[in-house]
Amino acid sequence: MSKIAVKDLHKSFGDNEVLKGIDLEVAEGEVVAVIGPSGSGKSTLLRCLNKLEEPTSGHVIIDGVDLMDKSVKLDEVRQRIGMVFQHFNLFPHMTVLENITLAPVELGRASKAQAKERALALLDRVGLAEKANARPASLSGGQKQRVAIARALAMDPEVMLFDEATSALDPEMVGEVLQVIRDLASGGMTMVLVTHEMGFAREVSHRTVFMDGGVVVESAPPAELFGAPKNERLRDFLSKVL
Ligand code: ADP
Ligand code: MG
Repeated sequence: MSKIAVKDLHKSFGDNEVLKGIDLEVAEGEVVAVIGPSGSGKSTLLRCLNKLEEPTSGHVIIDGVDLMDKSVKLDEVRQRIGMVFQHFNLFPHMTVLENITLAPVELGRASKAQAKERALALLDRVGLAEKANARPASLSGGQKQRVAIARALAMDPEVMLFDEATSALDPEMVGEVLQVIRDLASGGMTMVLVTHEMGFAREVSHRTVFMDGGVVVESAPPAELFGAPKNERLRDFLSKVL
């Protein structure tokens, strides 16, 4: 069974149909990179996967549970799916540690002491053990994004979604964030990464998906997708970004 199965997913904003029938399956432990031009619906797709956006029609099935089923508790689903955004979205008035422990404690997943211990271990894992008591404003962009990843991991998600997690970063900070994502991939985390880092998509993903105009145009192992692109639109896109 797929960890994530998207079936004939449609999403419109008013008259603007942004997703025009997406089918996508992600196996447990699989890393899928999603590439494509700006406006092609990549973020909307990702947001539909944990229902930050309500799909217009179709199915999003996580571990066999259809999120379109009205009886599904969205809070529970969202706790199992971590999401990291381009703009970090850390709480500025809280310390790094408080940012990470907030959700597990508020949602009754851990005691304060347990959450703190876990947060410190996660900070160590992303190379920021010494920043536990810092405020987000004192961190670099790369450090903020690593805290955001640690915060998502604090909920022990089964799936991680990344939406252009490195595109707001200065170039010298991209590598440190990609390294954390790379480590998660080798640890077997199921992930969907929207990225404009073509080299990274090629290196880290098991499968790369090219979206254009609200549809999946091509989906293949990266060596194939980048090495021998079949579709004209993909070839055109790659000629502009590579
Ligand atoms: P991408 O991430 O590939 O750049 P998006 O999914 O962000 O593409 O956007 C696809 C289209 O959906 C764009 O035309 C965008 O303007 C539109 N869109 C996205 N979110 C909203 C929204 N909340 N309300 C209205 N239109 C939206
Ligand atoms: Mg986007």
